Amino acid sequence: MSVLDLKIDGATVVDGTGTAGARTDVGVRDDRIVAVGDLSREHAGRSLNASGKVLAPGFIDMHSHSDWRLWENRRAESKIRQGVTTEVVGNCGFSPAPVSPEFLDDLRGFALHVPAGMDFGWRTFDDYLSAFDSGGLALNVAHLVGHGTLRIAAMGFARRAPTTGELARMRSLLAAAMDDGAFGLSTGLIYAPGSWSDTAEIVEVAHAAARGRGFYASHMRGEGATLLQAVTEAITVGREANMPVQISHLKAAGRPNWGKVADALALIDAARAEGLDVLADAYPYIASSTSLRTLLPDWALEGGVEAMLGRLNDSGGRERIREALVSTRGESMALRVGWENIMIVGTTARRDAEGRRLDEVAKARKIEPVDAIFELLLDERGRVGVILFQMDEADLRRALAHPAVMVGSDGSSLAPTGPTAGTKPHPRSYGTFPRVLGEYAREQRTVSLPHAIHKMTGLPARRLGLPDRGTIRVGARADLVVFDARRVTDVATFEDPHRYPVGIEHVLVNGRFVIKDGEHTGSLPGRVLRHL
Ligand SMILES: [Zn+2]
Repeated sequence: MSVLDLKIDGATVVDGTGTAGARTDVGVRDDRIVAVGDLSREHAGRSLNASGKVLAPGFIDMHSHSDWRLWENRRAESKIRQGVTTEVVGNCGFSPAPVSPEFLDDLRGFALHVPAGMDFGWRTFDDYLSAFDSGGLALNVAHLVGHGTLRIAAMGFARRAPTTGELARMRSLLAAAMDDGAFGLSTGLIYAPGSWSDTAEIVEVAHAAARGRGFYASHMRGEGATLLQAVTEAITVGREANMPVQISHLKAAGRPNWGKVADALALIDAARAEGLDVLADAYPYIASSTSLRTLLPDWALEGGVEAMLGRLNDSGGRERIREALVSTRGESMALRVGWENIMIVGTTARRDAEGRRLDEVAKARKIEPVDAIFELLLDERGRVGVILFQMDEADLRRALAHPAVMVGSDGSSLAPTGPTAGTKPHPRSYGTFPRVLGEYAREQRTVSLPHAIHKMTGLPARRLGLPDRGTIRVGARADLVVFDARRVTDVATFEDPHRYPVGIEHVLVNGRFVIKDGEHTGSLPGRVLRHL
């Protein structure tokens, strides 16, 4: 046997399959695991003693929005420091490609943040992946194609059903993206333009992803009063398009809906019993986060973000939007959550509002909360975020404990310095994986450590169709994390979110150290993964 590049000795290896850990050694050569067992007699270029620590496969973030932030944060700081070695992006119906020149401005205008270097010079998915890959990356990235992006490319922000030709265009763009290496299709059915599609349209488009052996990731049409209908719709897409379904960030939003996660899980169990491949992901927090404009009725976005700002500047348009927002008849997200449970984040012009609740912001300006929303949207040109405190702890535990649920942060690769510094993003971007391991596995015992790790490794790898990642075995890629199970914990909070977790000691991506002794090495061994 030839010399190993690296030998990791003495760790408790939790291999990602869900089985209990065992003390053994792991040998790495180039980018692969080449030996597992007693390696005390083997020679290695370098050795790492990990006695008393857990060695696990690198974590896979099944639900990420790093497509944008990685352009300016190639070191993937807040994710790699959690032990994440692969991120799945293109979620919630929105990916940066494919692009049609005709509707390029609509797509770019919809992005909450367009970092430097992200010039939208690409058209096809392949062009995009090549541009994205050219700067180097700390971790691996798998891409989904957003249905909203396809719809914008085919028909802009038109609030109607697609014509036969437009539908065919969406399908052919998706088929081409699948050939270029996309892993599947995502929807964002609460967001315009996705919210303007019906189930038949999603099924019709999804066929192209099914043909490419991809899966369907759904930010569903409702996560509150209509949660169960929405789960049923997602499952219907899987059944009719004959493809696996991934229910994104499973939750029951709004106090009247607390407890419904159990019913949603029952629907998932029933679908699985029927033979359908339905799984879900969740993040370990009782607050969600989205863009402030999501609180507006979806018709306010007709024609795109500029058109929305035009309506807010017009007294008639503004009144109609106000009525929808304060009406107790429809499903007003703002009323459901409550002004005091809405935190404003990600501001650039209105720093006075950063990290403050909407009722306080309104009070400080001596206006009604609904007017504070309008003012913020206009001042920030539509680009401002919210954190919504609207979920139930018991629901969260139920989701995390369920065998069909894996971990996905719904966050991005951020950093305490650079463009995101000074904002108060949702702490999930910094704490998701250590929080599951520390708070929910070790402290609350919601899930055992081997199962928690399986939900971050083997289970998402299976969903993605990545046989060489997500488990520790001979032949697998050497994406690895060494952590201290007694100490691992998240420290990022809603008030102070830009804080790295503790207890994550070493992280290797494709056989190279990116985190060594808790510090970033600057190494960029990540790859753009292509599903072929
Ligand atoms: Zn989403």
